[in-house]
Amino acid sequence: MFVQGGLCFFCKQPLPKAEASVEHLLASANGGSNNDENCVACCKAVNALLGSMSLKEKFQVVLNQKGQFKCPNGAGTAKTATQPKAPPKAPAIAKPKDDRLALVVANLKQRGNAKPRTLKTLTSTVAALFPKGISEAELSALVQQLMSSGKVTASENKVTYAL
Ligand SMILES: [Zn+2]
Repeated sequence: MFVQGGLCFFCKQPLPKAEASVEHLLASANGGSNNDENCVACCKAVNALLGSMSLKEKFQVVLNQKGQFKCPNGAGTAKTATQPKAPPKAPAIAKPKDDRLALVVANLKQRGNAKPRTLKTLTSTVAALFPKGISEAELSALVQQLMSSGKVTASENKVTYAL
């Protein structure tokens, strides 16, 4: 502590004895000695963080701080600027419903004589045109639109077309 002027080895903040701990640069677990040349006094918090990291990892931790090393104990971190949050992404604009109807009609036209013959297959055919998913409500609304526009007529579950 005397050699380090009473400051933490890493963050250079005054180090009260209660906060001080001995960090083995080369961890004891990795064969580091208890000699002075392997030991530094530092904040308990950074000692706990470094734990038994390899020297390489410890260097990385220190270098990552880009010369502004702060031990992770809250001391001197008050100035840390909070990152402004990125503005939320604008929600994807849903296509107007008319486009969907037009898409369905165009697809049904393409099918020629192979159009779905029942309301059930028509509904699943329409659903399959929206691989990204379509809600039950939207699906039945589309089928209703087809019928109310006279393009599709359903009687006793059989479907006829006037596209
Ligand atoms: Zn410190």
